[in-house]
Amino acid sequence: MSIHVLSDLVVAQIAAGEVVERPASAVKELVENALDAGATHIEVAISGSGRQMIRISDNGSGIPTHEVDLAFHRHATSKLHNLDDLATIQTLGFRGEALASIAAVSQLSMTTRHRNEAVGTRLRLDGGVITQQEAVGAPAGTVITVENLFFNTPARLKFLKKENTEKRHIVTVVTRYAMAYSQVRFVLLQDGREVFRSSGSGQLADVLVAALGIDSFKDMVEVDGETQPEPDSSPIRVSGFTSAPNLNRADRSHITLFVNGRSIQDTSLTYAVTQAYHTLLMTGRHPVAVLMVELSPEDVDVNVHPTKAEVRFKDPGAVFSAVQRAVRQAVVMLAQTPTLRGGRYMIQADSQADDESWSNAGMQRRVQLDMGLELESAGQYPRQIPGREMNDDEDDPTAIPVGMGVPAKPRTLPILRVVGQVGATYIVAEGPAGLYLVDQHAAHERILYEQFMEEHARHEQPRQYALESQTIDLAPGESRLVEANLDALRAVGFEVEPFGTNTFVIRSVPAMLADYAPAEVFLSILEDLEQGHKPGQASVEEKIIIRVCKRAAVKAGQILSLTEMQGLIRQLERCQSPHTCPHGRPTMLHMTSDQLAREFGRLGH
Ligand code: ADP
Ligand code: MG
Repeated sequence: MSIHVLSDLVVAQIAAGEVVERPASAVKELVENALDAGATHIEVAISGSGRQMIRISDNGSGIPTHEVDLAFHRHATSKLHNLDDLATIQTLGFRGEALASIAAVSQLSMTTRHRNEAVGTRLRLDGGVITQQEAVGAPAGTVITVENLFFNTPARLKFLKKENTEKRHIVTVVTRYAMAYSQVRFVLLQDGREVFRSSGSGQLADVLVAALGIDSFKDMVEVDGETQPEPDSSPIRVSGFTSAPNLNRADRSHITLFVNGRSIQDTSLTYAVTQAYHTLLMTGRHPVAVLMVELSPEDVDVNVHPTKAEVRFKDPGAVFSAVQRAVRQAVVMLAQTPTLRGGRYMIQADSQADDESWSNAGMQRRVQLDMGLELESAGQYPRQIPGREMNDDEDDPTAIPVGMGVPAKPRTLPILRVVGQVGATYIVAEGPAGLYLVDQHAAHERILYEQFMEEHARHEQPRQYALESQTIDLAPGESRLVEANLDALRAVGFEVEPFGTNTFVIRSVPAMLADYAPAEVFLSILEDLEQGHKPGQASVEEKIIIRVCKRAAVKAGQILSLTEMQGLIRQLERCQSPHTCPHGRPTMLHMTSDQLAREFGRLGH
């Protein structure tokens, strides 16, 4: 084949791949344009995954008639003139690529009127080619409708994920901009249904309540710190909200960072946030945070990547420590005033009649902290240890039967005799084959899990605990997840009903969670659902069951009586897989008599 220059259209289609990877990236670029145009009200409407249709309406400046077609040229921008401008760029866009790229891979129409002109323009493009342009009457501002995204790039289509995944990405994009621009009113409609709305009050807190749900937001604290790395350098301000240690997640994706109003990905800064929780969070758990980093535009290079999702700092170390310090300060302040930590605890502390047991629960949490053990609280109420007060309550599925009544199941472990408890976390037991160190939480998880799965396999109606109507407010993305999984939740014992846009009523919970805060339990289950379902993995129901058992199991840091421990070990002895918890971690360490003898130099004596 001879060498030839690619046509503009092909060039645009290739380049489009860099800017518009998926429907959410188109939403991102169009929202950025609306913000750059000074809009105070932005409405995003999509149908399906966004591939079918994305419509963004704004009340910004609009585009002057004589510039309308220029806007769709590659490298046509009103925001940058020369390279020097880049050093002080204040707008989100500057590359002049987005409109050209999106238009090249879709059927697009735009209606716009500049606020200083009397007449507006309507423009239609098909795969980047203008097919229609006319003068129309229109309100000041711009409406862009993108239809059939990727219709002419079948390769890209193949990479799109399931409709729900794409929808969630769009929710993320819109809520992030709403956070960064709290003074702008955002509305997101999916298939005609409003899933998110921000008030435009200028208060980040208001946006976070709408974006995360009040139940999560209650456990967040304000961050506000300013550092000046060097006497002559400009200050770095870090503000926003970060979670109290009891609100945490299994991955880092709930740490949202903005640099000068731009949502960015930065592994190092994300790490700085996690670092601030050093010793406060169990390994593998991460905080929820929304942080705004503001620094002089000259100290940050935004032109690193076509999607502008990464930035380069002149002094990365200074930004890292500014973030870490500000977050740490907020979290430590919180820890120093335990009664104030997390709104949720406050409320529960108030409603808790028995002051003494409340302070016991607080104590326990602190003890866990000091030991560097699992920080996860035992729920707001001190957990009733089955076997102590509830020995005679046969209906309690979490009860550890003591002595008699052990189900006639085959034994999978030798008979063990409990010797004692170490660090309120491990049970020391001995058997004919030597010494066993049993993780009480992991072991109980295993026991509950097998009980639950057995019932489930027998298709028994899960044992439920009915609640007085309890409502929970969720983030829009979470709400969609709940809706998609209502059946699986019901099968396990959660009776949940939609109640308004992002609000649900929890009517019942699995019986073994009867004395836990339903909202808290429910949020932790959602988090597992969020991780998505991959083939070959546990079913959604099983995932929920695993989480329920984790919640209901005795915690590390709980002091158990000898009878309770003996009851637990009796049940473990008859589990199908007594050696691991449902997550696959070991429930016990075993040291054979031989090993003991060898360690003590007794072998051969
Ligand atoms: P960039 O944002 O990098 O300048 P775009 O391709 O996204 O490039 O947009 C090209 C130009 O079109 C912008 O510079 C701006 O002048 C104009 N424009 C795009 N969207 C809007 C909008 N919603 N309101 C007003 N002007 C817009
Ligand atoms: Mg742009």
